[in-house]
Amino acid sequence: MDPASPRVVRALLEQHQFRIKKKFGQNFLVDGNIINKILNAAELSNMDVVVEIGPGVGALTYRLAQKARRVVAVEIDRTVFPLLAETLDGLDNITLVEADALKTDFDRLVRERAGAPANGYKVVANLPYYITTPLIMHLLEGHLGARKIIVMVQEEVARRLIASPGAKDYGALTVAANYYAVVELAFKVPRTVFLPRPEVDSAVISMTVRKSPAVCVKNEQVYFALVRAAFQQRRKTLLNALGNLNKEFSRDKWLNILRQAEIDPVRRGETLNLREFARLADVYDQCR
Ligand code: SAM
Repeated sequence: MDPASPRVVRALLEQHQFRIKKKFGQNFLVDGNIINKILNAAELSNMDVVVEIGPGVGALTYRLAQKARRVVAVEIDRTVFPLLAETLDGLDNITLVEADALKTDFDRLVRERAGAPANGYKVVANLPYYITTPLIMHLLEGHLGARKIIVMVQEEVARRLIASPGAKDYGALTVAANYYAVVELAFKVPRTVFLPRPEVDSAVISMTVRKSPAVCVKNEQVYFALVRAAFQQRRKTLLNALGNLNKEFSRDKWLNILRQAEIDPVRRGETLNLREFARLADVYDQCR
């Protein structure tokens, strides 16, 4: 039973006396066209193994299963499982797993539940909004076998993911996501296609995971600590913002580091691109 319509989802929720849980970010997609656009962005074939985060009542899951070889769907709310049993009845290439996606080792999950696909797997999801950023970071930071990540996020998060240096939405999330993946806006999604309707519009983001990071750094931890410090006080010049990263370093020492990295100390951190952050982090790392 394809549940991609408001009528079907409403009837299903009513029949099971299901109470939508705001705390789990439950906004169900009820528009078949949007679901098809997500599938197109994921460029699915019948060779693909797909991990879905949060199947909900199965609108996306149902159509993913028709296109892919196998779908492994991770859902935190056990009370949706009786509804999924109904909507996904008859589809034999879906594995439902009750788990918290934030604590899930996706590589292992795919290995154990779908056999290890040589070409990696794809993640496709309408993400629960309350944990969008940590989930994206969890997916990217683990150097996972995922090769493509197609996710619906709040429009504001989408803007941050694709922002350019100097823009108001450019931040630590932009740098981190673009370090690990080629990030693109697939399309925007109005709030009207969800049940219940969220307070903001959404967008689908496509992340193609890079084989190696966008820039080469000597120490990733130092790189990201520096990026965080630069954005923590966006209005300050780099020279002032970096003081917080290492209080033992004098102003002159920081000036020297910035000079060696060929970065003007009066620039703000938010204007640096990934390559400039990498240069700065490498010089700083040598001087520690
Ligand atoms: N995929 C469905 C759709 O598009 O209609 C539901 C999307 S809804 C925005 C988010 C789903 O993620 C809900 O089913 C919710 O219960 C589930 N969820 C929330 N937090 C989760 C977590 N930490 N791990 C796994 N699933 C989670």
